[in-house]
Amino acid sequence: MLDHLTYTAPQPKVIAGAKGDWELVIGLEVHAQVASNAKLFSGASTGFGAEPNSHVAFVDAAMPGMLPVINEFCVAQAVKTGLGLKAGINLRSAFDRKNYFYPDLPQGYQISQLYHPIVGEGEVIVDMGPGVARRVRIERIHLEQDAGKSIHDMDPNMSFVDLNRTGVALMEIVSRPDIRGPEEAAAYVAKLRQIMRYLGTCDGNMQNGNLRADVNVSVCPPGAYERYQETQDFSHLGTRCEIKNMNSLRFIQAAIDYEARRQIAILEDGGSIVQETRLYDPDKGETRSMRSKEEAHDYRYFPDPDLLPLDIEQAWVDDIAAAMPELPDEKKARFVKDLGLSEYDAGVLTAEVENADYFESVASGRDGKMAANWVINELFGRLNKEGLSVETSPVSASQLGGVIDLIGSGAISGKIAKDLFEILWTEGGDPAAIVEERGMKQVTDLGAIEKAVDEIIAANPAQVEKAKANPKLAGWFVGQVLKATGGKANPAAVQDLVAQKLGQ
Ligand code: ADP
Ligand code: MG
Repeated sequence: MLDHLTYTAPQPKVIAGAKGDWELVIGLEVHAQVASNAKLFSGASTGFGAEPNSHVAFVDAAMPGMLPVINEFCVAQAVKTGLGLKAGINLRSAFDRKNYFYPDLPQGYQISQLYHPIVGEGEVIVDMGPGVARRVRIERIHLEQDAGKSIHDMDPNMSFVDLNRTGVALMEIVSRPDIRGPEEAAAYVAKLRQIMRYLGTCDGNMQNGNLRADVNVSVCPPGAYERYQETQDFSHLGTRCEIKNMNSLRFIQAAIDYEARRQIAILEDGGSIVQETRLYDPDKGETRSMRSKEEAHDYRYFPDPDLLPLDIEQAWVDDIAAAMPELPDEKKARFVKDLGLSEYDAGVLTAEVENADYFESVASGRDGKMAANWVINELFGRLNKEGLSVETSPVSASQLGGVIDLIGSGAISGKIAKDLFEILWTEGGDPAAIVEERGMKQVTDLGAIEKAVDEIIAANPAQVEKAKANPKLAGWFVGQVLKATGGKANPAAVQDLVAQKLGQ
């Protein structure tokens, strides 16, 4: 797919058991909250952190006779996400009722898309380092409603229910079991998050639960996965367990590692894996059984009689496709190809869409590599240290661009540029004006530099003798001259003059 970036697939993670080697096979069901002001089937707000039960339409509370009305914007967001994952869009999809009892689900069912999802097969390229990437196939994306929230810690005797989240649109993104290790699983979720943040279809906030994953894990002996790949026959793979509702990349990795070792120990002991749903306990670092695996028929799925099949037009999909922003893989490839950046630097700069935008405005009309160095080393370094982001950066892209212009024109040296950056960081201002006002301009006037060299040489006769005997000591004079000129003398000119005066 990405013909402009060539990569090799990483080796699968191998765990050595007591009796032999085992490989991991992982498939993820990622729930991404659709970025939308209103819910999937009602006009109620999706705002986070509001007073409990203040964002609830009658249909969200399942009042008798209330009917769901599909939110076109949420559908467009799912289509956009599908296109971003290079997936097929189904012009006809349909909603089904998935029946279950939850105290925070007043309808007694969730509206989902089991049989006819809106998005079909796609793929994600998961970067595992420069030149190394895993292609993970997407099986489907469907739209569904989120449930509400039960609150158990407000009262010793009672539980409370908050329906603000009830009916909020989710996209469930189902991968094929193509992920082969804990790091890949985390990188896959990170990549989905990155793509959706570029698209503006999910804010990717994992802490708030706006992006969370059910992680399916199985283990198999080496070679079994290749047979599955050739035949697409799941019987070559081991039985999987599903770890529910993970919303931390770190915990996803820890849970997979624990779960794989648990399964290996059982299998090597002659036992077999029971397909089940498990929960990860971050305090103990363990997964534990939650319930036995439920099948589709347990939910009595049936087409929702309140909703017509969802028919969308190709022309509408084409309009969405035409308005797609540049995606991270393409942006990264462009930074490498057009700006001459290393793949690593391009990866750092495109990781977050806001960072990429900042960098692009710094680099616009300037040397890309120099802009990349300044943004990554000086700006990101400083932002990280102070816990800030580009949105809250005290130095704007145009100010940083101004610094680079001053270096480019020879007005200031690289060293003075760092002082200038510091001034901009703490005091702000216009870079060119600061350089002018504070006399920070680089001295390129050879006469002035020569005068400074002469003075230092005259003042240090003993050192001159030593340097004449040992040319390596000339560096001392260069240092003294730079110091005497407050770092403003052009270093190359100083070096030349010192060498000349010492007769080297
Ligand atoms: P369900 O909704 O019942 O959990 P799905 O078929 O929707 O089942 O998908 C379950 C997920 O499990 C998919 O992401 C799939 O790739 C993954 N999966 C299927 N078989 C295995 C396996 N043997 N090992 C690991 N993951 C698997
Ligand atoms: Mg599942």
